[in-house]
Amino acid sequence: MSSQNEYSFFQSVEKSFDKAAKFTKWDSGILEQIKACNGILRLRYPVKRDDGSIEVIEAYRVQHSQHKTPCKGGIRFSEEVNQDEVMALAALMTYKCAIVNVPFGGGKGGIKINPKEYSVYELEKITRRYTSELVKKNFIGPGIDVPAPDYGTGEREMAWIVDTYASLKPGEIDATGCVTGKPVSQGGVRGRKEATGLGVFFGIREVCNMPEVMSDLGLTTGLADKTVVIQGLGNVGYHCAKFFSEIGGSKIIALAEYEGAITNPNGLDVDAVVAHRKKTGSILNFPGATNLAKNTDALELQCDILIPAALENVINGENAPRVQAKIVGEAANGPCTPEADEIFLKKGILCVPDMYLNAGGVTVSYFEWLKNLSHVRYGRMEKRFTENLNMNILDQMENLTGKNVSDKARKVILHGPDEVDLVHSGLEETMITATREIMDIWKSNKEIPDMRTAAYVCAINKVGTSYAELGIFP
Ligand code: GLU
Repeated sequence: MSSQNEYSFFQSVEKSFDKAAKFTKWDSGILEQIKACNGILRLRYPVKRDDGSIEVIEAYRVQHSQHKTPCKGGIRFSEEVNQDEVMALAALMTYKCAIVNVPFGGGKGGIKINPKEYSVYELEKITRRYTSELVKKNFIGPGIDVPAPDYGTGEREMAWIVDTYASLKPGEIDATGCVTGKPVSQGGVRGRKEATGLGVFFGIREVCNMPEVMSDLGLTTGLADKTVVIQGLGNVGYHCAKFFSEIGGSKIIALAEYEGAITNPNGLDVDAVVAHRKKTGSILNFPGATNLAKNTDALELQCDILIPAALENVINGENAPRVQAKIVGEAANGPCTPEADEIFLKKGILCVPDMYLNAGGVTVSYFEWLKNLSHVRYGRMEKRFTENLNMNILDQMENLTGKNVSDKARKVILHGPDEVDLVHSGLEETMITATREIMDIWKSNKEIPDMRTAAYVCAINKVGTSYAELGIFP
């Protein structure tokens, strides 16, 4: 889905950083240190394929910043993986964590494989060997560097990682905190799977609730009357589509995947599309929808909100002039290039930037890591207490007024928080606060051209403060 970019991905990140650095007060030395990748691990190791042949695997882990530890960021499995990409993604993690006040430095890992071309057994061997290499090089650990899922990986791979790590570190009491995005049965937290998609939803909803921002775009406030196009039906894209239609009441008018795109101005039912894809192997020919010739055609449809939720560089200098959306919500990492940003500015398109909009994943990873270190499930201590307290309050109210609340209201009032309630509410708070913080920075200086630059200013100031307070290690 990606097309040729004018800059390397890491250079694009540096370019956006430099554009924002002008609006900060940090001296050039601190800015250089913030930008630099602190540690790069490049691995080559063999794996025996099921047919008995040996293949050499190329893999990376980049630690962009240790201004806070551990480093944090996903591991992707993709044929496109290269050092430049992993460096860029690690840098974005540093800025992302800073904006949402998650106290980690940025990291990222990548294994250059197409996971679809390997058996489950081969993938397990590749993942476990990668983990043991990270252990040997001291590039993983609950206080060192904590990987997570990313493009092409999920709970299954995280379970292999935690198991390998724990077996190499017997007795390490916090071993489960060496990776996040684990299955709940292996120390994962409820709500992690949908976290990135839900965070995107909360972020865009907050932007759409800002009357002055919406009137500048010629839109009404709220999500209910909005049309949405989503590129990518992986974990992030799927959950975005669900939340925009089910909570936001928006209409999903197009969906795009590798094999093509489909559109229906009356709205698409994402679960039905997923079921159709499972049955036929493609989203194309979905009943009631029109097929689009190329998957990238979906990016150019008329809509209110366009959500690229797949890979980087999909909207660039070539196709950005044809984008008709009013708001572009970057659910993927780096989907729009700096050239696209310039064109959006001229066209009056609001691009809500990746480095905070897709921070839901790492935010809930932080909650998972805290759960692992505290060795107790969220809600375990207070759920029953809250329910008993609410019951007492309600009884008093009903006695004093002589009236009873409805059964539905009773259920809502009495409910004490479960783990998933607390995780979703922590995420909602995080995304609302971050959106407002970035918007305030943007509003406070008329020279700041776009929301991405405002987000970078926010990140640079937070990381810069850390470095300045730490001083430079002699
Ligand atoms: N891979 C996700 C991201 O790019 C999540 C990272 C994490 O949870 O550490 O933000």
